[in-house]
Amino acid sequence: MPDSEFTGRSIGLWHPEQTRAEYRPCHPKWMFEMTTLIKNGRIITATDDYFADVFIDGETVSMIGKNLPGEVVKRADRVIDAKNKLVIPGAIDPHVHMELPFGGTVSSDDFKSGTIGAAFGGTTSIIDFAIQFKGKTFQQTIDDWHAKASGKCAIDYSYHLAVTEYEPKHEKEFAKVIDQGITTFKIFLAYPGVFMIDDQTMFRVMQSAGAAGGMTLVHAENGIAITEMINNLVKAKKLEPKYHAQSRPPVMQADGVARACKVAEVAKAPVFIVHVSCEAAMIELQRSRDAGNPAYGETCTQYLFLDESYYDKPKFEGAKYVFTPPLVGKENIEPLWKGLKLGYLQEVSTDHCPFNFKGQKELGKDNFTKIPNGGPGVEDRLSMVYQGGVIERGFTLNKWVDLCSTASAKLFGMFPKKGTIAVGSDADIVIYDHKKKRTISAKTHHMNCDYSLFEGWKITGEPQTVLSRGKVIIENGKYVGSPSDGKFLKRGAVVTP
Ligand SMILES: [Zn+2]
Repeated sequence: MPDSEFTGRSIGLWHPEQTRAEYRPCHPKWMFEMTTLIKNGRIITATDDYFADVFIDGETVSMIGKNLPGEVVKRADRVIDAKNKLVIPGAIDPHVHMELPFGGTVSSDDFKSGTIGAAFGGTTSIIDFAIQFKGKTFQQTIDDWHAKASGKCAIDYSYHLAVTEYEPKHEKEFAKVIDQGITTFKIFLAYPGVFMIDDQTMFRVMQSAGAAGGMTLVHAENGIAITEMINNLVKAKKLEPKYHAQSRPPVMQADGVARACKVAEVAKAPVFIVHVSCEAAMIELQRSRDAGNPAYGETCTQYLFLDESYYDKPKFEGAKYVFTPPLVGKENIEPLWKGLKLGYLQEVSTDHCPFNFKGQKELGKDNFTKIPNGGPGVEDRLSMVYQGGVIERGFTLNKWVDLCSTASAKLFGMFPKKGTIAVGSDADIVIYDHKKKRTISAKTHHMNCDYSLFEGWKITGEPQTVLSRGKVIIENGKYVGSPSDGKFLKRGAVVTP
């Protein structure tokens, strides 16, 4: 709606036709509170599938129904026709890294470009990782991340706190983090000398997190053995991108997962394995959960479509796929999809951590160990899971919504504020054109990265309109929000399935 059409009510001014009760005082910044009606859509949540209209009052859904009363419809400042479209909860990507210093450079999406890219892809909440660099306290780490993200995000955001140093004397600081709404912690069993923690610290973090109602996320690999393998490859002058994959074989990930799950078991704490990329690691996770432990995990879009043959691309292009864990043999792809379908893995994230090919990936032109680890993906996930899951493998629409939104909302303490369409929930809503055919390309994506992992792939389905807390931020292929729309999301206790 153009500015000239705002009614007094929608900008928070008194209007004679309003009762006092209807009058909403202005937002501190003189923001408007609009009412929006989404008509004729097919609403899909993780459990439901029905045709109805959704009425949004300000930032939340206030009414859902068929043939809403005339006086309600009349109150709508804006009407969106979702005929022949799917109306789904905004997607949640619980694993991204914006503006992350890594390997002598910084990931190319900052919180602004990265969250705008996310919004185009139908993602309305992200969880980044506030990583404790050596010598920093937990609070300094969180403050550093707030300084990077605050006022720059197109969508709501939160962080997991990645702990690299933890002594029992820091216990109090731990509880303070939880009080701030950061209820998940991350540890690395990889990158010795940089982020890796020892098993004693792993045990401590898991125990403290679990006791406080939080959960520990683990980057699970055998970092020490991998370092030895890297050293041997470098000594043998095996320096091309493909050796990145050879230095981190699936069995090293399976080892990390088994160890993390067993330590979590004795720490009596929930554990969540990030970026599971291969069947061997998934089996270890499944084994722990079958034994009755609260052990969960995710995979990422790239592992569901790409395999290690991409490292053989000529002209150093294999470097585009250098992320950790690396791509593995293609025999892993179907087991991962099956794992999602049967609940061995709970959700799909991206581990979005882009570096431009020119100038950044090229840092490792002569040595794969210097290639910054990471790739772009936050914009593509919802559509790729629709393509690969719903279209190509017959997943239900409910499962698609669960994998891309609801499961993460529950696991990471945001449900039912996020992750569903229900009365009282935030109006984070995507109107998804599930018949639209399109081609993915770096030329048309909005992430700040000069290549796409899925360049030239033809897929069906695209977010048409995206609302973040009631405000339309993507419309007709354009970003129409503002960088201060996104708010820090205080999260609650994890809800494990
Ligand atoms: Zn990551």
